[in-house]
Amino acid sequence: MYAARRWSVRHARFLESLYDTFEGVMNALHPLWLKIGYDRVEKPITFVERNVKGFLFDCQMCGKCVLGETGMSCPMNCPKQLQNGPCGGVQTNGNCEVIPDMPCVWVEAERGSRLMRHGSGINNVRLPVDNRLKGSSSWLRVVREKRDQQFYGAD
Ligand code: SF4
Repeated sequence: MYAARRWSVRHARFLESLYDTFEGVMNALHPLWLKIGYDRVEKPITFVERNVKGFLFDCQMCGKCVLGETGMSCPMNCPKQLQNGPCGGVQTNGNCEVIPDMPCVWVEAERGSRLMRHGSGINNVRLPVDNRLKGSSSWLRVVREKRDQQFYGAD
């Protein structure tokens, strides 16, 4: 159980590099997304993202991915959906107090972050989950946000 998500944490560095490359490709395809229309590509891209990340990370499609800051361990799998570290209930074996046979996602996040090149991102303060984004593609959101920043010069 939880084998795939634990594999992802153990291979956090490899997945970080893969994601960097993938993000570059997604950004380079911006003219194509623009031509087709972001609203039109949302559905098929979301389908792919849901299945790939669902398999690798038990992704819940929160719409604003933070895996790059959490050692490839998805914080949405924390039963309390904590975004900035574990609660005080981590068991001595590193498992969750709510789901005792599940490794605490934040213990895993710490483990994965240590393997990553930019693992210090785990220290960033993350905002609460924005439920309005639930079910949307975070891959496309990253591209759009990057383009908006370039266009408007804002954060
Ligand atoms: S942080 Fe959000 S988008 Fe990323 S894997 Fe978790 S639920 Fe999916």
